[in-house]
Amino acid sequence: MSSETIIIGGGVIGLSIARELHKRGARSIAVVDKGRIGAEASWAAAGMLAPNAECHADDELFRLCTASNALYPSFAAELLDETGIDIELDRTGTLVLAFNEQEAEALEEKYAWQRSAGIAVEKLSEDEILKLEPNISPYVHSGFRYPNDWQVENRRLVTALRKYCEINGIELIENTIVESVPSGRRVIVTAGAWTNDLLPDPKVKPIRGQMISLAGRESRILTHVIYSQRSYVVPRADGRILVGATVEDVGFAKQVTPEAIAELKTAASEISPSLASLDIAESWAGLRPFVAGEIPVLGRVSENVFVATGHYRNGILLAPITAKMIADEIWGASTKISDHGVLKASQ
Ligand SMILES: Cc1cc2nc3c(=O)[nH]c(=O)nc-3n(C[C@H](O)[C@H](O)[C@H](O)COP(=O)(O)OP(=O)(O)OC[C@H]3O[C@@H](n4cnc5c(N)ncnc54)[C@H](O)[C@@H]3O)c2cc1C
Repeated sequence: MSSETIIIGGGVIGLSIARELHKRGARSIAVVDKGRIGAEASWAAAGMLAPNAECHADDELFRLCTASNALYPSFAAELLDETGIDIELDRTGTLVLAFNEQEAEALEEKYAWQRSAGIAVEKLSEDEILKLEPNISPYVHSGFRYPNDWQVENRRLVTALRKYCEINGIELIENTIVESVPSGRRVIVTAGAWTNDLLPDPKVKPIRGQMISLAGRESRILTHVIYSQRSYVVPRADGRILVGATVEDVGFAKQVTPEAIAELKTAASEISPSLASLDIAESWAGLRPFVAGEIPVLGRVSENVFVATGHYRNGILLAPITAKMIADEIWGASTKISDHGVLKASQ
């Protein structure tokens, strides 16, 4: 490991930062991972880019997510150009559905403030929903469409970023645990849920998410990303339908449980009864890196050490803006996301 810049953790965050630094002219970069590159949370994710459907307030996280989402069309196009890999940015949009009066009221409240905050959101009646997605349950009550909430195939994203590194001489060191932050080099800690093995702060907690994918049919059953109050479904271009996800505070246990698989299948069938007959193709779990406040910690820890962690539910979405912010921090520029500016790790 003689490289001048060492990135510890080869998930979507570490790889995106490696690419951005290289694009800005840095050379002699190594990405080190304790396992296979990109095989942890970044592989386990659903790939939703949902700054609006998942937002609960017009706050800093929302502004960060929105700014990163806006970078995705060019991020996807550049990666295709650079690596030949299509990360399948799908801009069909996202539906959030209510299945009873109570759920509809809760969504209505969210809709009211989102409209006043200028967020693109369309209210849909039951008929309008069934016209958009004929295979949705007839028991649907009402819902909302977020045209600017998209999805990418996050496993292809990780593969594309890996390929960028390989093509451009960024060293990838796999199956190598870094035990402590090395000195004398520029170091960027992007170790996700394992950040505290390397840095005492910020405090990062693993939050397990279990998911399943259903074997698709040739004709796509659904086209939008769709949320109910109990689950979400993500139809992929190859016909698979992802269903997620649990949110569990169980430490570093990464097992998949039969109960969760059964619950996810039931919850998906509530959204669309057509999903009930599909076989479960795959089940898996990943560990989201959670920090208090649910907002990532990005910035400088000491003169040569930087951190980008705590992306929790939004690490795929936030990868492009994170890479820019860390590169800006290294070279003294400032990414203006909002009046609150860049979050500093040292704050
Ligand atoms: C089920 C699930 C669904 C999700 N859905 C979405 C979604 O739809 N949209 C979205 O935006 N986000 C989603 N997320 C969140 C997203 O996956 C994460 O926020 C993101 O992947 C975090 O990226 P990361 O690079 O920080 O972490 P990781 O991908 O976990 O990468 C960290 C890497 O660091 C390595 N590492 C750790 N310690 C060391 C060490 N000491 N030495 C060497 N290497 C080390 C690990 O091996 C790992 O590869 C989801 C997450 C889960 C689990």
